[in-house]
Amino acid sequence: MKTINDFNFKNKKALIRVDFNVPLNEHFEITDATRILSAKPTIIKILEDGGSCILMSHLGRPKGVQDAFSMKHIEEKVEDILGVDVKLASDCVGSEAKSMAQNLQPGEILLLENLRFHDEEKLGDENFAKALSELGDIYVNDAFGTAHRAHASTTVIAKFFEENKCFGSLLAKEIESVKRVMEFGESPITAVLGGAKVSSKITIIDNILDKIDHLIIGGGMTFTFIKARGGQIGNSLVENDKIALANEIIEKAKLKNVEVYLPVDAIIADDFSNDAHTNTCEIDKIPDGWMGLDVGPNTEALFADVISKSKTILWNGPLGVFELPNFAKGTIALGHAIASATQNGAFSLVGGGDSVAAVKQFGFENKVSYVSTGGGAMLESLEGKTLPGIAAILNQTGN
Ligand code: AMP
Repeated sequence: MKTINDFNFKNKKALIRVDFNVPLNEHFEITDATRILSAKPTIIKILEDGGSCILMSHLGRPKGVQDAFSMKHIEEKVEDILGVDVKLASDCVGSEAKSMAQNLQPGEILLLENLRFHDEEKLGDENFAKALSELGDIYVNDAFGTAHRAHASTTVIAKFFEENKCFGSLLAKEIESVKRVMEFGESPITAVLGGAKVSSKITIIDNILDKIDHLIIGGGMTFTFIKARGGQIGNSLVENDKIALANEIIEKAKLKNVEVYLPVDAIIADDFSNDAHTNTCEIDKIPDGWMGLDVGPNTEALFADVISKSKTILWNGPLGVFELPNFAKGTIALGHAIASATQNGAFSLVGGGDSVAAVKQFGFENKVSYVSTGGGAMLESLEGKTLPGIAAILNQTGN
């Protein structure tokens, strides 16, 4: 696996696919610059080598050229974070981009205008990818957030670089973190899967059952499993058409010697609201008119015990409706358990969607081993899929 550390960028122009798809408010101010910060190590290494950087990204979902999605809104923030002046090309291809790239000197940074101003980007158009490729000497992919897309700048472009392509340090870290769980995770390996629905997690469960020792299930999908066992779930979230599937998962886990842990109690509410009346009850005795919105205290203790004995932990999906403070306790308790296992030497990876939001919201970001930056890309990695953006660099270098 070639990374930026395998290249000396002196006098080279690095064409870097970054993920600068940051959220903007109505005043076009960046509300979360994590993605820019995450790309910094790659950019700085290249500049310190004596190279220059041509940064390309998409921003939002523009329909053609739309000022609201221009990279001009983020240029200043990129300068602030990198501490280097940034030149902005008014298009990502064409004569201006070409001459600005040609004239770029070592130590300088050029930011290209939004790739998705061209439909060809998402279509994976070869000619467009080729035009982009002509701007730089070495292609670096550091955009994990779009690595599951076979777009021109994330995948197709790689073929025009033969040997001169590699992973940026962020993307390399993402790949290594997944491998540390899925390929050479130290046992006992525990996966915690929460979130709303079994249907959105089934491919992950299928893929990880071969690799893990313990499976902890929480969140809304708990109730499909409890109903499958004949439990009373009141008005809790359930996927009736997935009950047979839930039973199959339990059987499969048994065959593969995976210990499955389901919640034993729940915080129940009489309405899907933070102001609802609440109570605690056994997980399979939820009265009609009530719904389980969080795990209860016995479950917190049970899960914490499993986590404390684990050497490798994967966490995807909250244990309850953590967006409502009254139902966030189980998710917070899990965060504490994972943080303390990590402090005791376990490797912990948090990835894919809402668990990342929860980890950040409750301050566990620096207490786990790695928090993935890519929602969809991480989910597809956990499903065992080879991401096209990663394959494009691996296959064509023969690594
Ligand atoms: P996912 O995107 O599948 O990981 O689902 C995350 C969502 O699941 C969050 O918005 C949570 O509020 C929701 N969730 C977690 N536990 C429950 C529950 N017991 N009932 C309903 N929704 C839940």
